[in-house]
Amino acid sequence: MRIDLHTHSTASDGTDTPAQLVRNAAAAGLDVVALTDHDTTRGYAEAVAALAGLDRGLTLVTGAELSCRLDGVGLHMLAYLFDPDEPELARERELVRDDRVPRAKAMIGKLRELGVPVTWEQVARIAGDGSVGRPHIAEALVELGVVPTVSDAFTPDWLGDGGRAYAEKHELDPFDAIRLVKAAGGVTVFAHPAAVKRGQVVPESAIAALAAAGLDGIEADHMDHDPATRTRLHGLAEDLGLLATGSSDYHGSRKTCVLGEFTTDPEIYGEITRRATGAFPVPGAGGRAGA
Ligand code: AMP
Ligand code: FE
Ligand code: FE
Ligand code: ZN
Repeated sequence: MRIDLHTHSTASDGTDTPAQLVRNAAAAGLDVVALTDHDTTRGYAEAVAALAGLDRGLTLVTGAELSCRLDGVGLHMLAYLFDPDEPELARERELVRDDRVPRAKAMIGKLRELGVPVTWEQVARIAGDGSVGRPHIAEALVELGVVPTVSDAFTPDWLGDGGRAYAEKHELDPFDAIRLVKAAGGVTVFAHPAAVKRGQVVPESAIAALAAAGLDGIEADHMDHDPATRTRLHGLAEDLGLLATGSSDYHGSRKTCVLGEFTTDPEIYGEITRRATGAFPVPGAGGRAGA
């Protein structure tokens, strides 16, 4: 079984529509794929509908990646199989999503002050109806010839955390996120917890505190962790009684990673599905439902 529990579609900052994502996941030979758009569940319906058209089995796990902040450090919390209609969590997702628009406009204002002629119209065109984020602004900078690739915009000079053109958005307290996801029947996994190349990360003591507060797992295997870091995180997960997952964090053509670049052990996946009560994995055509 090949299981990839972290992907993005055009519902946030990926470039595949939810239907294309599902088809590409099947074509990539995955058995299970989770759709985890930033702060939104908007891609679910289209992804579920696309399962019917597949010629091989693929199980869809619904999820989201929630934007959080702890002691001034931004972090991402993956949430799986929660009830998308649970009102308290839905309200928090909406708060984060709504704040992304004024925040993007603030970053565009800073870029213009730096002499970059980027406009909201350009960024809105790139974002389409996805929840707008820095990758969309980064792509505008690529179009304008300011940086060669999207990743090159994530530096202190431009859009990196605390960078010259960076602006904060509303973000959840991760302890609240864990509580809210659990109340909505879901499971939480701390995404790329040691991705130092993205900026500051939280210390292991914070991961221990989150574990004590009910965190279910950490994403140990991720492209932004070097091999030594992955090994360390597997050890930390064992010490703290956390599930250790692995995933691609696929964003279509906006990032270099491919579907299934990292995967999650079937036993860990089975435990995630056993803990979840808010939603069930959706088996696709071929009937080979995930564990
Ligand atoms: P935002 O949620 O708007 O603050 O943007 C964060 C998103 O930017 C992440 O979810 C990634 O998709 C993307 N991102 C962060 N760091 C990088 C990087 N170094 N290269 C490319 N994309 C990145
Ligand atoms: Fe992203
Ligand atoms: Fe992330
Ligand atoms: Zn992600």
